[in-house]
Amino acid sequence: MSIADNWLAVKQRVAESAARAGRDPSTVTIIAVTKYVTAEQMNEALRAGVTDVGENRVQDALGKFPALEGKVVKHLIGSLQTNKVKPVITEFDLIHSVDRSELVAELQKQAAKLQRKVSFLIQLNISGEITKHGLPPQGLPELLQRIQDCPNLIPCGLMTMAPFSDNPETARPVFRELTDIYKEAAVRYHLGETWRYLSMGMSQDFEVAVEEGANFIRVGTAIFK
Ligand SMILES: *Cc1c(COP(=O)(O)O)cnc(C)c1O
Repeated sequence: MSIADNWLAVKQRVAESAARAGRDPSTVTIIAVTKYVTAEQMNEALRAGVTDVGENRVQDALGKFPALEGKVVKHLIGSLQTNKVKPVITEFDLIHSVDRSELVAELQKQAAKLQRKVSFLIQLNISGEITKHGLPPQGLPELLQRIQDCPNLIPCGLMTMAPFSDNPETARPVFRELTDIYKEAAVRYHLGETWRYLSMGMSQDFEVAVEEGANFIRVGTAIFK
């Protein structure tokens, strides 16, 4: 199957999952995760209708972006080192992986210097797997407090990765918990209308994520296999 065929198949599966949950499929944005593919394959995906791409490694991504044809929304989905903050602010549209206070401090510092507002998601580690990046949920109140003191930072929601499993149902309680935390935080911290994204679900489990309320899903293998 071509990238275009895969893309249509993923879109169809998103539409079916949204229908099962009584959701409008247009509220779910599919981020094509392009970490393993070339700029040429990315362009093929853009021609097929992809609007958003997700990259893990800043350096790899910066090498490919200049070759992209046409407009695309760029997401950083991999962990972010503080020394890469500046190019990320200028080259990416949304960061999904803010998970610690040193990173918040550096984002604020560089955003102020660049006179930019920076939109980002906070990555939570719901499953407690030690191999995963992300803040434990108990750390969220303190991190949000720090962010509220940063005039250039706009927290826009939450991201998580479910534990790897062959059974997508394993991810459901993780996604459900992220959705609960997301809704609760909106009320408790008066996060307003900029708090609007839930990034969860990958090739293995995006249908479950859509059923549980994701509005960003991050899909690599199912599109580029
Ligand atoms: C690689 C990656 C994905 C996509 O994974 P697939 O299983 O290829 O769909 C999604 N999110 C993050 C954070 C990733 O690193």
